[in-house]
Amino acid sequence: MRKLILIKYASEIFLKGLNRNKFEKKLKENIKNVLRGMEYEFFIDQNRWFIHGEDIEALADKVKGVFGIKEICIVQEVLADLESIKAAALEVYNNVKPETFKIETNRANKNFPLKSIEVSMEVGGFIISHNNDAKVDVKKPQCKIIVEIREKAYVYTEYNKIKGAGGLPYGTNGGTMLMLSGGIDSPVAGYLMARRGVELSCVYYHSHPYTSEQAKEKVIDLAKILAGYTGRLKLYIVPFTEIQLAIMDKCREDELTIIMRRFMMQVACRLAEKTGVHSVTTGESIGQVASQTMEGLIVSSDAADRPVFRPLIAMDKEDIMDIASNIGTYETSILPYEDCCTIFTPKHPKTKPRLKEILASQGKLEVDELIERAIAETEELSL
Ligand code: ATP
Ligand code: MG
Repeated sequence: MRKLILIKYASEIFLKGLNRNKFEKKLKENIKNVLRGMEYEFFIDQNRWFIHGEDIEALADKVKGVFGIKEICIVQEVLADLESIKAAALEVYNNVKPETFKIETNRANKNFPLKSIEVSMEVGGFIISHNNDAKVDVKKPQCKIIVEIREKAYVYTEYNKIKGAGGLPYGTNGGTMLMLSGGIDSPVAGYLMARRGVELSCVYYHSHPYTSEQAKEKVIDLAKILAGYTGRLKLYIVPFTEIQLAIMDKCREDELTIIMRRFMMQVACRLAEKTGVHSVTTGESIGQVASQTMEGLIVSSDAADRPVFRPLIAMDKEDIMDIASNIGTYETSILPYEDCCTIFTPKHPKTKPRLKEILASQGKLEVDELIERAIAETEELSL
């Protein structure tokens, strides 16, 4: 008898038809990547994936965070014969000692001589014969003991299940240029896209000397935390001061924010084009601040030449903060260093900008030249 990790991946992957192989291959690759340097053995028994290794806890801790994994279970592996299954089920039962239990058998190995229901009855009877107060409840058991019969047999309870990260394998759904600020929202937006399998690149607009080196370091730290989920990541640091000063010089004060946001979109799209990335992602949420009104979002999206995704659009700040805590970005995000938007924020930004007027204002600037220079001086970090 030995302990293993049983990997269950998202049911969405089952639905992928002909693409299923591609998703499975990527998922396997990603699992291998997070386990690099650890001692383990990966094997498949009739379509189920298993990992064996000395330090099961440490392995489980890594594997559960891989996108595309719905849950993992710590299971007892035994030979596929009734006596071994009974012994394993009894041990599992004794570890929990539930008030009521039920055996649930899944017989993938059709050569096994007993039917599922017969296995459940035999194993249940065996547990009762060894525990006077053991009681079966098939409708609402306190604990289900699961028996899977394949080449080998695997026995575990619901208590041995650990929730996985969910989503789809990273790298199976195209790429996005995440506009990553030092705030709470954008790292969460990036995480959610990555969790759906979308490959991340990040862009940060830095307004030296109006924003400090510490603000930049903070964004690098956030990008590193995201890289912990994605394996690796590019961060583009774009010098943004010249653009902001030009806007301040030529445009009305109440239009500063919206025009700045259009530039951010344009630069993100140019970088995306240059690096073969399909889309842009932001951490915006409807109504959160003055620039995130419906009109504001429309006018900023208009500047983009590719889809702009806003995975947080319908989420409350508190829910976003909960995710930030869970994924480990919150503590870094709340460090006090200012970002470029706070310094150049007008007192009364337009909340209902009109596209025609904003286009006319932005047109007073040398838009293409400003963008070209910013791109030319962009710093590229590989994390
Ligand atoms: P966040 O918490 O992500 O900073 P926010 O609520 O502070 O968001 P804004 O400052 O209006 O909102 O920014 C909206 C979005 O624009 C951010 O979520 C981010 O995607 C992008 N953004 C803002 N500032 C920057 C920046 N300096 N560099 C890169 N992207 C930025
Ligand atoms: Mg912000």
